[in-house]
Amino acid sequence: MDAKWWKAYPWRLIQTNLRETDMADIKADEYVRQLKEFGATLAMINTSGIIASYPTKLACHFQSPYLTGDSLRDIIAACKAAGIRVIARMDFSKVRREIYELHPQWAFRTCDGQIVDYNGDIHVCINSGYQQEYALGIIRETLNYLDVDGVYFNMGGFVQQDYHYRNYGFCHCRGCREKFHAAHGYELPEQADMNSPAYRAYLLFQKDVLRRHEELVRQTLESIRPGLCATRAGDEGFVRWEANTAIDRPLPRWQYEAANNTKIVVCTWGEDKISSNACVDFIDFPARHMAVSPHQQRLRLYQSLAQGGALDYYVIGRLDNHADRSGYEGVKEVFAFHKANESSFQGLLPCSKILLVHDEDGCRDEYRGWYRLLAENHFFFDAIEKHRLDEKRLNDYSLVILPDCRYISMELSGALDRFTANGGKLLSVYQSGMGGEQFDPLDKPSMQCLGVEDVLCDRADMRGSYFRFDTGGVIYFD
Ligand SMILES: [Zn+2]
Repeated sequence: MDAKWWKAYPWRLIQTNLRETDMADIKADEYVRQLKEFGATLAMINTSGIIASYPTKLACHFQSPYLTGDSLRDIIAACKAAGIRVIARMDFSKVRREIYELHPQWAFRTCDGQIVDYNGDIHVCINSGYQQEYALGIIRETLNYLDVDGVYFNMGGFVQQDYHYRNYGFCHCRGCREKFHAAHGYELPEQADMNSPAYRAYLLFQKDVLRRHEELVRQTLESIRPGLCATRAGDEGFVRWEANTAIDRPLPRWQYEAANNTKIVVCTWGEDKISSNACVDFIDFPARHMAVSPHQQRLRLYQSLAQGGALDYYVIGRLDNHADRSGYEGVKEVFAFHKANESSFQGLLPCSKILLVHDEDGCRDEYRGWYRLLAENHFFFDAIEKHRLDEKRLNDYSLVILPDCRYISMELSGALDRFTANGGKLLSVYQSGMGGEQFDPLDKPSMQCLGVEDVLCDRADMRGSYFRFDTGGVIYFD
């Protein structure tokens, strides 16, 4: 396989999220013909995980009973012959009920010990033997059987919701309880509570489990076939987030979603990772045969391009049997635009002087407010993940904005102090720096450059306040 083929690849991906029944009468030639009609250069196809879409020899890999159409091997070969690379989609977040009954210890457990059975699919835990061991065997079998160029892992990690968006809290299976106790000496807390030292330790535990699992997957892929482009597998490959809608999601819609998703990846990872932000065709899973507005689809795709990202369009089912095709023309238009201007979109790197720090543990609304302020006033700005930010990268900027980034490591705090001492400007919002990287609360912000000597009160009931600046300093009113 070409080394790091994705780094200079004209990435126009279409994900056909194939249902089991889509394999019953799928035709390789027709599948490829439709991809070519869109000008796609990459296909993402479901191969393994909850369902094995190829003949598996593994007892706990649920065999699809619908493999009566052309085989995945034939489909992949037809794609390759047409110059289209293929990414395998795998999902290890659930197993079919039959598999769960053989291995009940693999299941996610609520605080009360209940499992989550979503229409016959049982949620499994990342700390279970399934995700830690068995899934690696499935990955190995898939990659030995199918000639794919990359792997996308869907819905990994600590999943708390089902597709009804019901929240079950965090997992309390025996594996989680024992591993957490061994690592931190606490019993697993029942609920999320930042005032609880055990819960704060649990958040660190989650990050550590995710980091170790990612490394495990990376090593597994490397041992099977080096050169694969994958998600959640180290410092290279691709990142795939989604611009999507949901029926119950409160308005207003976040119209910068595709731009923001792409900006964070491009600015954080540069040339090391591709940002493949999925433009989700459907309105929501319960309405998955109905597309969002074609204008919405085009907007997302152009936003991805404008931020230096790749193109990625995601439909449920196949292109030829998809019910609502209202988005197709717009998607083809953007794909054709990219194809006509491929060289202009290669190797784009950010170079803004303003940095908006993105913090996965921070306040989403505060971040989005600053994003809007900057975008709608036509400031060029970058967004970098807080955990990838260091002194060297800070020095690329003249202004750094912390949009209520509560938890700042002492290392980053010191780097921010030196950044301002050297003339950089820091805009620190609300409680930024009022906690350390262990989620431990502090009495005052850790950044000395803010000049905060003491916090006299923290009023959660105040509806409004303002600062009045005069020549003598700052006077505070409420
Ligand atoms: Zn668990």
